[in-house]
Amino acid sequence: MVDIVVGPQSYHHLPQLLTRAEREGRAIDTEFPTEDKFSFLAQPRPDAIRARGVSAFVTVQEGCDKFCTFCVVPYTRGSEVSRPVKKIVDDVKRLADNGVRELTLIGQNVNAYHGEGPDGRSWPLGKLLHHLAATPGIARLRYSTSHPGDVDDSLIEAHRDLDALMPLVHLPVQSGSDRVLLAMRRRHTVRDYRDVVERFRKARQNIAFSSDFIVGFPGESEEDFSATLALVMQIGYAAAYSFKYSPRPGTPAAEMQETVSAADMDGRLERLQNLIDSQQSAFNRAAIGTTMDVLFERAARNPGQIVGRTPYLQPAHVMAAKDIIGCVLPVRIARLDRYSLLGEIVSPTLPPGEEPASSHVTIGA
Ligand code: SF4
Repeated sequence: MVDIVVGPQSYHHLPQLLTRAEREGRAIDTEFPTEDKFSFLAQPRPDAIRARGVSAFVTVQEGCDKFCTFCVVPYTRGSEVSRPVKKIVDDVKRLADNGVRELTLIGQNVNAYHGEGPDGRSWPLGKLLHHLAATPGIARLRYSTSHPGDVDDSLIEAHRDLDALMPLVHLPVQSGSDRVLLAMRRRHTVRDYRDVVERFRKARQNIAFSSDFIVGFPGESEEDFSATLALVMQIGYAAAYSFKYSPRPGTPAAEMQETVSAADMDGRLERLQNLIDSQQSAFNRAAIGTTMDVLFERAARNPGQIVGRTPYLQPAHVMAAKDIIGCVLPVRIARLDRYSLLGEIVSPTLPPGEEPASSHVTIGA
């Protein structure tokens, strides 16, 4: 019943594949060609960019060379490939010219970025961020998803130097147990992870972290799981995603014999999510009474309300006219409604071309 199978690096071949499928009944293209598919894709039209809003994703890197034992990405997305700086800059300029104010640079292992710079050298992610921060119109930069082992000095310096680089780092750790990290082939220890977090914190005092966790990895004992809870307590996350382990066919972990029972997995996931929820709630409550910069994105569901995002991606609602969409304005946070902050704009009129200083929210260690 399947007419076309197309790999992630080949979707620019779709027109030819459709023609071939019509002619021959089926078409398969799962190769990893060396050509850059982005060069073959049509550029989005200005009205399409504007319709998508003030925040945009830009792919800078694809694939992964890490081969964590539970993950299919290296098999399905291929090895790490970074787009050249010039192509990214062209995309970013086009987005900025059409009203985009916030960029999230994305890649399966984005901080392994090593694209060719205009000087012919390989640029790390930190250098790319420095370069993009100078783009007129771009107020905010983010990136996702990072591997703790690929955090280099250039990235730390970018967080130290760039106001536009938002102080929220998504840094997956998966487990707080060295024994499980080794079985996952994560290539770092708990101590390494804590050291990386410390380096970020030294560079940017108001930085916050989110993470990913897997519970019930094959062989995870109650002691291993307790170590995960202990790490979460130590770091103090603004948010985190947690999942029960499920085997992915073809990965080494899928062959592992020591499994964790469904009941144990359920219990552990609930305990972990309760802890993460309590940290997220505390983090959000800490915003009440502070003034935070909000990038306004769109009209909210309630009439007259506009919603935007704080530097920590918290939704923030104010009563205001629609013309603030696309502006970064300081908002005095008055209260919290579930996960949303509600407040008032502190100074609705700013001198032309000026933007407020970065947020004043204080976060705990
Ligand atoms: S979990 Fe992340 S770092 Fe590990 S193999 Fe998958 S994409 Fe790569």
